[in-house]
Amino acid sequence: MSEPPSLAALCEAAGTKFVLALFVDLNGKPCAKLVPVEAVETLSAEGAGFAGYAVGAIGQEPKDPDLVAIPDPASFTPVPFVKEGLAIVHCDPHVLGKPWPFAPRNILRALVQQAADAGFEPWVGAEVEYFLLKRSAAGELVPADDDDTAARPCYDARGVTRMYDHLAAISSAMNQLGWGNYANDHEDGSGQFEQNFRYADALTTADRVITLRYLLSVMAAGRGMIATFMPKPFTGKTGSGLHLHLSLTSGDAEVFPAGDSTEDARGLGLSATAYAFVAGILDHARALQAVLAPTVNSYKRTGATATASGASWAPNTPTWGGNDRTRYVRIPDAHRLELRGGDGSANPYLAIAGALAAGLDGVKSFADPGEPGSGPGDSLPPTLLHAVEALEADPVVTGMLDAAAGEWAGDAVPSVAHYFAQLKREEFFTWHSDVSSWEHHRYLTAF
Ligand code: GLU
Ligand code: MG
Ligand code: MG
Repeated sequence: MSEPPSLAALCEAAGTKFVLALFVDLNGKPCAKLVPVEAVETLSAEGAGFAGYAVGAIGQEPKDPDLVAIPDPASFTPVPFVKEGLAIVHCDPHVLGKPWPFAPRNILRALVQQAADAGFEPWVGAEVEYFLLKRSAAGELVPADDDDTAARPCYDARGVTRMYDHLAAISSAMNQLGWGNYANDHEDGSGQFEQNFRYADALTTADRVITLRYLLSVMAAGRGMIATFMPKPFTGKTGSGLHLHLSLTSGDAEVFPAGDSTEDARGLGLSATAYAFVAGILDHARALQAVLAPTVNSYKRTGATATASGASWAPNTPTWGGNDRTRYVRIPDAHRLELRGGDGSANPYLAIAGALAAGLDGVKSFADPGEPGSGPGDSLPPTLLHAVEALEADPVVTGMLDAAAGEWAGDAVPSVAHYFAQLKREEFFTWHSDVSSWEHHRYLTAF
């Protein structure tokens, strides 16, 4: 087998002048150093150093040794449509020469390994929904689309045409990168869009979600707009989801379709393993929401059943069904399932790792999802605090967050799950202590 090309060789072939050596923290915030091509061999050999505490949610104190981001050449992504000669490379953070367990990319790698140990290779598609906004003359954030008069803007042909330049630039960027953009549409809120790309292996898809959010943000900013992935930017409009499409192969064979076997108990064309995977996701749904919907704003998306323009299409109970788009798990066909609980604030590495941990747990325990339309009976967590409490009570999802601790075992590295729960609890109470205009409206003269 020939050696995969080095980062230096990839840069030379693409005419790269600068590399953004990039990774994300537990909140999914992209951090990077801009490395000139002249220093790329050193970057490959030694990595890029970061003060971990300044990164944010990555489990480091000011006194700790540097976080060293080691580039993964397989993720090399030239982005000349942002700046001529610019490329992104996703990196695996290390500390003292070992993969750092708080780095989401390392966590997803560990889950992909767990799937491989169980005999499976996961495949993942992700749907990135977002709003395009601008500031009005009064300084308010409003949809960037000047004509937002359509009562039901979903699939609006004129809306897509008004944003043609932006949508086309993103589409051709995706296609130049070989991602296979196959559709671009207007979603249910005015100014809300989705641009789809083909599924791939778990790590590649997570990297692409991060790259796509970056491209959408910087390319929209180039046109004077703000792209936001915030789960629910406006009361009364739909939120922005991050739906995940999941499937497994074993060897070269698809695991989910029942094929000719007689094991399809419910007539949806699925194998016993697929049903058990669905059941695992439903059983862990409440805890999973802590990573699929990790902000206080997330719960305004899953809490709404309707919006001014119709359904919110976001689930509020952990149920599954056939093609029903209001369910937590939808079965579009026998080849995959769609997990609809996640939103635009989800860290794609943790969201995918969580889905795999939950699904594989269902497979291991031969779990049964019950009849379509059913679920574990409870509702999804109504707030981030409820989700954090569910997370802390779920050893499968906390185990997922601690999955990359491997080489640090015995070195007294604190629990990632505990740290994540603490961060999110703090986020909840910081929000809770902020006095809002709703409170003025409700209480100012009420007593
Ligand atoms: N925007 C909806 C959500 O928040 C999804 C709409 C759709 O199915 O495309 O999940
Ligand atoms: Mg959509
Ligand atoms: Mg979808």
